[in-house]
Amino acid sequence: MAYKTINPYNNELIKEYPNATDAEISNALALGDKLYHQWKKEPVSSRQAKLHEIADLMRQKSEELAKVLTVEMGKLIGEARGEVELCALIADYFADHSETGLQPTTIKTSAGNAQVVNEAVGVLMMVEPWNFPYYQIMRVFAPNFMIGNPMVLKHSSNTPTSAVEFEKIIKEAGAPDGSLTNLFLSHDQVDQVIADPRIQGVALTGSERGGSSVAQAAGKYLKKSSMELGGSDAFVVLGDADLDQVIKTAARARAYNAGQVCTSSKRFIVADNLYDEFLKRLAAEFAKLKPGDPLDEKTTLAPLSSAKAKQTLQKQVDDAVTAGAKVYFGNQPINLSGQFFQPTILTDIKHDNPAFYQEMFGPVAQVYRVSSESAAIELANDSHYGLGGIVFSGDAAHGKKVAEQIETGMVFVNSPLYTLPELPFGGIKRSGYGREMSSIGLKAFVNEKLIVTN
Ligand code: NAP
Repeated sequence: MAYKTINPYNNELIKEYPNATDAEISNALALGDKLYHQWKKEPVSSRQAKLHEIADLMRQKSEELAKVLTVEMGKLIGEARGEVELCALIADYFADHSETGLQPTTIKTSAGNAQVVNEAVGVLMMVEPWNFPYYQIMRVFAPNFMIGNPMVLKHSSNTPTSAVEFEKIIKEAGAPDGSLTNLFLSHDQVDQVIADPRIQGVALTGSERGGSSVAQAAGKYLKKSSMELGGSDAFVVLGDADLDQVIKTAARARAYNAGQVCTSSKRFIVADNLYDEFLKRLAAEFAKLKPGDPLDEKTTLAPLSSAKAKQTLQKQVDDAVTAGAKVYFGNQPINLSGQFFQPTILTDIKHDNPAFYQEMFGPVAQVYRVSSESAAIELANDSHYGLGGIVFSGDAAHGKKVAEQIETGMVFVNSPLYTLPELPFGGIKRSGYGREMSSIGLKAFVNEKLIVTN
């Protein structure tokens, strides 16, 4: 059985789930399609109260939901509670803003009275990763529930219990059957579902490799898709930046969720005059992180999500060092049985080092020294990815000018990069296409239909 819940803190196998049967797939698609036709007759506002109820239920059950995340993929319990609250916020936001956001627009034209109305398209397939098991689902679920697009979910094979719990919340809140159906699909079954004529769109969050494969299937069957993929975000520290503020943000930007965030800062690009001090102080911050049971409030360093995640990261670090990178701090084993990785700082990464273009999905900071602002921008943009980024400058207006030159979907100035339901989320280049959240994400899967009357 591919779907397994294994606690990465103590490696205990907690539960296994069998793959979906053909009958389950067929039933999920039939339910979704039936609901789509029912929802088409109902206004968007008819689903508002239910989505608020889902948010309320998540808040009521926050503790129990958070524990599922911590036990299943290892995140710190405080961060898990934060994820549940963020989901509730997203649900409330789309409950309150979808009706307005989906209002028809009128076009001035000589063709007559032209209006563009926003309609549901049908059943969607969503494919989600393990790093924020509820949040990733909610980003797609909340807007599409309001629009009237039922969904089938294929979650990551190492977070099946989170998928089951999310689906339970939807059911318990009384949302109609078929609103969201979780299926434990193999990769081949994902292709099979995408091929089904009732599926009208595909939303994936995951790696470049997974995204490329699922986008290929979506392209083959001409289904619209949105791809939220990996990143290797730059954290640019200009020469006039306030280092106290920088360090506080930098350590968290790399170590939050054990460094397993698409928008974690992965490449720190630091002005010459601040470089030595930056390294010293970042290492001091990393040294303070305390590994332990992620259910314990005192723990500040969580394990990675799985043995595979740790092996992959260790190999990346080893390969980087073999190719000439220097370990400034970390890369020592942690004497605990879980999948812990000591926060690590790598320097001297040259262009031909394999690490230069890789996404490192764990608490490993690549730090680069630059001698000018233009060199910092050039280095920040020298990436296959284009998801997010951070710029620190003593002059916020100047920081914004630099942000304008960074080739990504999101840049924050003098602040950590964070997510809120009203802010669009997504990237360019190999970080994917499309946006989730906000009024832009709301319309990812709508039929913007032109109606002209004379
Ligand atoms: P992943 O291996 O691509 O898996 C993501 C999902 O895609 C899982 O459900 C996985 O299922 C499925 N999948 C992978 N290959 C597939 C295929 N060929 N056919 C059908 N389904 C397939 O990514 P991950 O390791 O779970 O997640 C980490 C990655 O996600 C990182 O690169 C991170 O940066 C990125 N991410 C991006 C965002 C964003 O918003 N841009 C947010 C969070 C994470 P299985 O588990 O069964 O393989």
